[in-house]
Amino acid sequence: MLDALGYDTVEALVQRAVPASIQVTPRETSDIPPAATEAEALDELRVLASQNRTMRPMIGLGYYDTFTPSVISRNVLEDPSWYTAYTPYQPEISQGRLEALINFQTMVTDLTGLATANASMLDEATAVVEAMLVARRGSKSTSNVFLVDADALPQTRALLHARAGAVGVEIVEAELSAGYPVDESGTPVPAFGMLVQYPGATGRVWDPIDVAAVAHGAGALVVAAADLLALTLLRAPGAFGADIAVGTTQRFGVPLGFGGPHAGYMAVRSGLERQLPGRLVGVSMDAAGHPAYRLSLQTREQHIRREKATSNICTAQVLLAVMAAMYAVYHGPEGLRAIATDVARKAQALADRLRSYGLSLASDSFFDTLRVSVPGSARRIIDRARERGYQLLWVDDATVGVSVDETTTEGDLAAVAWAFGLPEGEFLGEGEQGERAVPFAEAVPLAAVPASLMRTDDYLTHPVFNTHRSETAMMRYLARLAERDYALDRGMIPLGSCTMKLNAATEMAAVSWPEFSRVHPFAPEVDVRGYLAMIEQLETWLAEVTGYDAVSLQPNAGSQGELAGLMAIRGYHRANGDLDRTVCLIPSSAHGTNAASAVLAGMKVVVVACDEAGNIDLDDLRAKITQHADALAALMITYPSTHGVYEHEVLEVTQAVHDAGGQVYVDGANLNALLGFARFGDLGGDVSHLNLHKTFAIPHGGGGPGVGPVAAKAHLAPHLPSHPFAQRADHAGGFVFDGGPISAAPYGSSSILPISWAYMRMMGTAGLRDATAAAVLSANYIAVRLRDHYPVLYAGEDGLVAHECILDLRPLREATGITVDDVAKRLIDYGFHAPTMSFPVAGTLMVEPTESEDLGEIERFIEAMIAIKAEADAVAAGEWPADDNPLVGAPHTAESVVDGDWAHPYSRETAVYPVRSLVRAKYWPPVRRIDQAYGDRNLVCACPPVEAFA
Ligand SMILES: *Cc1c(COP(=O)(O)O)cnc(C)c1O
Repeated sequence: MLDALGYDTVEALVQRAVPASIQVTPRETSDIPPAATEAEALDELRVLASQNRTMRPMIGLGYYDTFTPSVISRNVLEDPSWYTAYTPYQPEISQGRLEALINFQTMVTDLTGLATANASMLDEATAVVEAMLVARRGSKSTSNVFLVDADALPQTRALLHARAGAVGVEIVEAELSAGYPVDESGTPVPAFGMLVQYPGATGRVWDPIDVAAVAHGAGALVVAAADLLALTLLRAPGAFGADIAVGTTQRFGVPLGFGGPHAGYMAVRSGLERQLPGRLVGVSMDAAGHPAYRLSLQTREQHIRREKATSNICTAQVLLAVMAAMYAVYHGPEGLRAIATDVARKAQALADRLRSYGLSLASDSFFDTLRVSVPGSARRIIDRARERGYQLLWVDDATVGVSVDETTTEGDLAAVAWAFGLPEGEFLGEGEQGERAVPFAEAVPLAAVPASLMRTDDYLTHPVFNTHRSETAMMRYLARLAERDYALDRGMIPLGSCTMKLNAATEMAAVSWPEFSRVHPFAPEVDVRGYLAMIEQLETWLAEVTGYDAVSLQPNAGSQGELAGLMAIRGYHRANGDLDRTVCLIPSSAHGTNAASAVLAGMKVVVVACDEAGNIDLDDLRAKITQHADALAALMITYPSTHGVYEHEVLEVTQAVHDAGGQVYVDGANLNALLGFARFGDLGGDVSHLNLHKTFAIPHGGGGPGVGPVAAKAHLAPHLPSHPFAQRADHAGGFVFDGGPISAAPYGSSSILPISWAYMRMMGTAGLRDATAAAVLSANYIAVRLRDHYPVLYAGEDGLVAHECILDLRPLREATGITVDDVAKRLIDYGFHAPTMSFPVAGTLMVEPTESEDLGEIERFIEAMIAIKAEADAVAAGEWPADDNPLVGAPHTAESVVDGDWAHPYSRETAVYPVRSLVRAKYWPPVRRIDQAYGDRNLVCACPPVEAFA
């Protein structure tokens, strides 16, 4: 590889590629310990795990223990064919997860009683904020008030307060069960939207139908944050007038994980579907006329609408959405109803028992959660429960909360009753006062819930929810879907900007350990010391490698880290009295999330031009800085740039912004090109997000989960994310954050942090540096080998690229008519996932091999790209017609070549075995090319009838 590039050592190559002015000399002392072996890292993780106490959480507040069916944990959560896949932007090789996601959408629409659901939100609290923004766009009211149920989850209320100001919304809390608030004259207060929690945070089940009607009369849209398990028994939000339903699907078999990752959900009534944020799967058609799934409206948010975007969601929670959907597929409607009934019965049995001893409840109408009145003794009861291994919720000195879930046993109920002072044995039916015992099995579920609130309609009637009832059938269904998808377990996914590196098995191991997975996010500090120690180490290590002072791991994706970082900049300017600093400069080449996040942080986006070499146009930057001098809040840049180039002028750029009083945000998505060689903090960055699911080995999960830590210099630290339930106020380095929450859980998607911890622990600083060097070497090798076939669009001063390279396919199109789409689809026939298409430049492919691909796989890719170029040349030479050749016909299914009337001018062998090695190693796409133009409006976004596939 070095010979092809003309360098003697990898070090020499990278020294040349990375501008000398920004390079750091490797540190002599480091907080990052020298690399551990796999066995050592696992041993250390076991010690950390043992410092978490495995208690039985009965805290509730949107998080419940659940049984993950083993067939799902083994065949989805722990199966690389699911967890190493990328977001389904290439639908032909993503039919398996797209089907799983359409199951998810169908599950959510059925249970919520609304028309259309998307394929996952980041968590419940952020989904409520997104719903608030949908309501504002959908409402005709000119009010800026969003009415919030006083009985909404406390973390949701905190997040709403933290986010509302930046987008000009006023949050007004009201006791909605007492009716819609009115002014002195009895007129309903104006609002564009209203949030009801159903059932409430206190567990109360009440009927929002009247308050929803008044809200509609006042021009407000109604958002219901609803518990999906409760909805199997209770009337659906769509039936009481909700326009939007949101929530979490955590309790559908997704482990608690100290807060995540979990899939949130959103569903809307018809008329609002085009306002849905995030991803939406629909049924389209392939070139052979067969139904096939694809994302609809897929690029609108990130790549087209930019500053007009209404949501910044990019990485979502696909793997967890798949798990939740499969939980519903496996249990089916009867199974879910039985689980919910069992939960309600257990809660009822406990309530009956407590009341029979004279205790009273805040509400007698509940599903799974009780608020028990215990004047003066809440603390003592909670301590007694802890003695027996149970975590209850301290509400105030006079109130204890208890939430029951599918894992709760009679023994658990007896122990909890004992904590409240009741004789334990009796509860189990062994006592002498048998007449006062309420046998668990005889309790009447939902005894005090009015009949009008009970659900009477059918749901999940589609065959997919009624077929896979045995473990054998379920295992085969999951294998069948995985077989249709191309993930890292099959070959390279050279997606530029996405860093699809190895997710090593050792790194993944701890995710499923119960000490990490069955932990409630609001558990007391003493129960989660292992987690907190790991988090503090990771914060320290990430601060060191990025050159920042403080790190928050709370954001659930890169986009959320961006938002947190920009909110910190906003908070900083405001604290300095600079209320007018609201302009955010963003280069035209930026990722779409940048502009969207700026808008959500209340900033005005001003685009800075790029020159022909792909670098920021310094003259334009200076002009824009001068023009907006007093209003300048921030510059957002990506380094190395999204063009895959180390811009030499970066220090001048950041200096110019600082001189004008602005802050510098460095998008850290390309950190895999820099780690160990340069640090954002040293480049003049004030704040960055990292993508642990890119640079730090967390798998992409088919489009999530992710972790997007935000890292900042000390002056911004006070404005980084905080959380009302954080177990500790301070972070590594002693910093205390006070920016308000950016996620529902204090440490975000904690259960996948062991992956990045293990990655860093096993790499050490030297290993991280080596990985960068290998990634840069591989990208440059591909660039040099393909240069004669496809022009490499941008390069630095020495003709070198960073960790990715952009191949320009526009000349090919001019010469041969073959498009970037044709090449991407033909790569499927060769057994590859296409590189990133048309980002950041239309008509190009951006290739990022990462350090994880060996030379054999890289050569296979180069060979395929060269062969494809030759095929295109053959088209140009007239050997094959422009409208009938292996490129425009790609991808080829098995069915397409067994067709008896094969009438193409190229052979069947050319179609499916263009290189010999494929004969023994073929990935067969399940569908032919999917029509992207087939109108989004026509897409059906729920499971299609089985006959469609006949
Ligand atoms: C991936 C990416 C993002 C967004 O990160 P998510 O984790 O997907 O939200 C932002 N900027 C760039 C340059 C990226 O590549």
